[in-house]
Amino acid sequence: MSDEKWTVTFIIHRQKGPDSQPHFDEFTIEIHPEEFVLDGVEYIWAYKDRSLVFRHACHHTTCGACGMRVNGVEKLACMTKIADVTQDGGKIKLEPLRNFPIVGDLVVDLGPLYRKMHEVHAPEVIPLCASPWEGEGIKPPQETPKREDGEEYIRLPDCIECGLCVSACPTAASDAEYLGPAVLAAIHIQGIDENPDLLALADSREGVWRCHSAYECSAVCPSNVDPAWRIMDLRKQIIARRLKFKK
Ligand code: SF4
Repeated sequence: MSDEKWTVTFIIHRQKGPDSQPHFDEFTIEIHPEEFVLDGVEYIWAYKDRSLVFRHACHHTTCGACGMRVNGVEKLACMTKIADVTQDGGKIKLEPLRNFPIVGDLVVDLGPLYRKMHEVHAPEVIPLCASPWEGEGIKPPQETPKREDGEEYIRLPDCIECGLCVSACPTAASDAEYLGPAVLAAIHIQGIDENPDLLALADSREGVWRCHSAYECSAVCPSNVDPAWRIMDLRKQIIARRLKFKK
């Protein structure tokens, strides 16, 4: 691999808060094409502008914190290579996710997604892997801890609750009450046969019938949850139930 760095200009959305007027700032840096967009953002924060607001944690696609729009497309900055989104002498435009309230610069409030997830019991998620505990002198838990109400925690396979699918969803853009791809995927994963409450939510006005079948959610999901397929499958299941109980 060549050691040669590229000259890249980052065009970054800046906004102090929800009521502030947004603008863009440009930062030109030298960066290796095999580095990631998040590396560039961290460099800019460290050496160019300490007031830049962005969010990150794991750096390896498991926390979902660094979601943003890169050249207009929802991505996790930690897994988006510079060479995949620009060229030497090129530009990279960074904007916050859509369809969430802005906190500042590249950070949005994912609270609406978490609250809807809570409604379908999905946010009661714990890190079951041992890795976060290693190196801290802390032993991994021997048993899965119980919630305060005594119920088991739920871990949705693959979904890292990054919100990329909500940002890409055209229905979420026009209807804040729409449950959205991640939440409907969470309902699908848990199953509607055994959960009448979840069936009612999926079949409600803000459920699966609001989806416009754009499939943008599945296109941007970094974790292969495939929410669009799950929404279509929920529709099939709901129709099958209606036909069954009509007889
Ligand atoms: S379904 Fe995919 S895109 Fe949506 S929150 Fe979960 S991991 Fe992110």
